[in-house]
Amino acid sequence: MSESTVPQTLDIVRYPDPVLRRSAVPVTVLDDEIRQMAEAMVRTMHESRGLGLSANQVGWLKRVVVVSETGAPEDTRVAVNPVVLSEEGAIALEEGCLSFPGLYGLITRPERIRVRYQNLSGETVEEAAEGMLARCFLHEIDHLDGVLFITKMTPADRMRVKRFLRELEEEYAGPRPVRP
Ligand SMILES: [Zn+2]
Repeated sequence: MSESTVPQTLDIVRYPDPVLRRSAVPVTVLDDEIRQMAEAMVRTMHESRGLGLSANQVGWLKRVVVVSETGAPEDTRVAVNPVVLSEEGAIALEEGCLSFPGLYGLITRPERIRVRYQNLSGETVEEAAEGMLARCFLHEIDHLDGVLFITKMTPADRMRVKRFLRELEEEYAGPRPVRP
């Protein structure tokens, strides 16, 4: 057996890294590398006390997200090629993002959704999600399309966070290699 090239945990890419604005490509073969990367994403999310993480955020352009609406390991879902099938209602909830540490804002999104994805066993899962779980899926699936939550803030919030974003831009050390 060859040794894994996937580390236990992954570095989280911060704004304004350009990989956060790129679209991830579908997973066509669910192989060991995909599984190991997804498991490393789960460990990275829990270590960072996040409720969700997308592949873009670890510099990997595959359509894979992990979510845990409570932050508890037993609530963790790994979703490969996730698709939102339907959306209903609208609700404003406070959101943060591991690529914008310390930044929060009220974001309006659908309240209830249906999602379809593959789990790591390759099974297709279809489920209804509402509240924080729906929110986590929507935020993370946006990442796969290069869409960031700051673009969905109210104009007032966007004004409020301008200086914060400028600070992240000043701290930014340049792009890291992207994993295809
Ligand atoms: Zn995020």
